Amino acid sequence: MRFLIIGGDAAGMSAASKAKRKDRNLDVVVLEKSMDVSYSACGMPYNIADAATSMDALVVRAADTFINTNKIDLRCGHWAEAVDPVSRTVTVVGPDNNRFTLSYDTLLIATGASPVMPEIPGVGLPGVFPLKNLEHGRKIKHFIGSRRVKRAVIIGMGYIGLEMCEALCARSIAVEMVKPGPVLLPWMNPELSDVVEQELARNRVVIHPGHGIKAIRPNSGSLKVVCDTLDLDADMVILASGVKPNSRLAKDAGLDIGPSGAVAVDARLKTSDPHIYSAGDCADAIHVVTGGKCWIPLALRANRAGWAVADNVCGVETRLSGVVGTAVFKLFSLEIARTGLTVTEAKAAGFDPVEVVVKTRSKAHGHKGSSTIYTAMAGDRRTGRLLGVQMVGHGGVAHRINAPAVALHNRMDVQGFAQADLAYAPPFGPVWDPVLTAANQLLKKL
Ligand SMILES: Cc1cc2nc3c(=O)[nH]c(=O)nc-3n(C[C@H](O)[C@H](O)[C@H](O)COP(=O)(O)OP(=O)(O)OC[C@H]3O[C@@H](n4cnc5c(N)ncnc54)[C@H](O)[C@@H]3O)c2cc1C
Repeated sequence: MRFLIIGGDAAGMSAASKAKRKDRNLDVVVLEKSMDVSYSACGMPYNIADAATSMDALVVRAADTFINTNKIDLRCGHWAEAVDPVSRTVTVVGPDNNRFTLSYDTLLIATGASPVMPEIPGVGLPGVFPLKNLEHGRKIKHFIGSRRVKRAVIIGMGYIGLEMCEALCARSIAVEMVKPGPVLLPWMNPELSDVVEQELARNRVVIHPGHGIKAIRPNSGSLKVVCDTLDLDADMVILASGVKPNSRLAKDAGLDIGPSGAVAVDARLKTSDPHIYSAGDCADAIHVVTGGKCWIPLALRANRAGWAVADNVCGVETRLSGVVGTAVFKLFSLEIARTGLTVTEAKAAGFDPVEVVVKTRSKAHGHKGSSTIYTAMAGDRRTGRLLGVQMVGHGGVAHRINAPAVALHNRMDVQGFAQADLAYAPPFGPVWDPVLTAANQLLKKL
C-alpha cells in the first residue's frame, strides 16, 4: 500500500516518520518541491540575529537520514502539480522538469502556507524578502552579511514581523515598521498593546500604522518604500503581511475548502475525499471554544495533525479535539502570549463576553527581579465560561498561558479555573498567580 505525502516539513515529515515507525512495510513517498525538509522555521528570526550560526543549524533531520535510516522514499525538488482523486494519481514535476504520475492508496496534502505578497510594484527587487522557508532565511542572512545594511523597513506588524524587528536590531540595523491597518496588534486588548508599543519605542523601533503602501522603488543603490503620506528609506525590506493556506491543489481536485480558504478536514484530518487527508498550515481545524471551524497556522498543530494522520492511515483511529489558538512570541525582553478568543471573536461566535485587565507582579512581594505582568481575561456573562486570555510582561508570561489553555480545552468556567491549585514559590510568582488574580477579578464582574 502506498501512502503518498505532498509537502516535507512539519506536518508531512511527522506523518511520514510515524507511519513508517508503525508499519515498516508501508510504501511511504514524500514529494517536496524545495531542497529542504524538516527544519525549524520558527527559529529563523533568532538564527538571523546570530551572525555566527549557519541557517542550516535549524535542520532537525537531514533528507539523507529520512531516506537511508527511516527508509522513506523522500523526493526533494519534486513539485506536485495536480491531484486526480478519480484515478488516485498525482502529477509530479521532477527536478529536470520531467512530468510523471504517481499513484496512491492514501494521500496526505501537507503543503503548508505561503507569505501574502503585497500587490505593489517592487516586491521582486533585490533586497526585498519574505520570510517563510529556509531558503528565504539563507538569502536574508547572506544579504545582511555581504553588504552594509543600516536601515530596514518591515511591511507588516504580525508576530513574524516583530520577531524579525528584534533580529535586525540585534544585527545593528535600524528598523521602521509600516502597515495599512491603524493598530499595532488589532487582536490585542489596547492596554496590553500599549505595553508592546512602549517596548518597540524603548528599542528605537519606529512604527507607522495606518499607511497604505504604494510601491518599493530602487533609490541610488538602496530602496525607498513609498507609502500614501510618507516615504521610508531602506537598505532592505522584509515582507511580513501574513500567510495564506496553500490549498490550490486541493481546490483544483474538487475537495471542500473551508471559510478561511484552508482545506476543510474533519477531526480525523480527512478531507471530503475518503482517500485524502490534509494536515498542517494548509488545513483548517475545529476551535474548541466556538465549536466552529478556524484556521490558525502554528507548528504544534501541524506536527500533531501529521501524527494523527499516520495513526489513521495505519489503522489506529485518532480524532483531534481541535485548537484553542495558544500562541506566544518574544519581542526584545517582552513575552507576549494569548489563548482562546478575543472579545471581538467571542461576540462574533455568539458569546456575551466580559473582560478584565489586571496588573500583577511576576514574583512574590519583595523578591528581586520582579516585573509587571498584564493579563486580560474574558469570560461569558451567560454561562460563566472562560473564553480567552492574553498576557504581556518581561518575565513569566510564556509558560503561564498554558494553564488557561488547558482550562479552555476542558471547557472550564471562570469559577472552576479560579479554584485551580497552581504552584507557588517566591522566585516564580506571587501566592496568587497572575492568571488566578485575573480569574478572581473576572468573577466579580461576571
Ligand atoms: C519565521 C517564522 C516563525 C514562526 N514561528 C512560529 C512559532 O514561534 N510558533 C509556532 O507555533 N509556529 C511558528 N511558525 C509557523 C510554523 O513554522 C508553521 O506552522 C509550520 O511550519 C507548518 O508546517 P507545515 O508542514 O504545515 O507547512 P510548511 O512548513 O509550510 O511546509 C509545507 C511544505 O510543503 C511544500 N510544498 C508546498 N506545495 C507543494 C507542492 N505542490 N509540491 C511539493 N511540495 C510542496 C513546501 O515547500 C513546504 O516545504 C513560524 C513560521 C515562520 C515562517
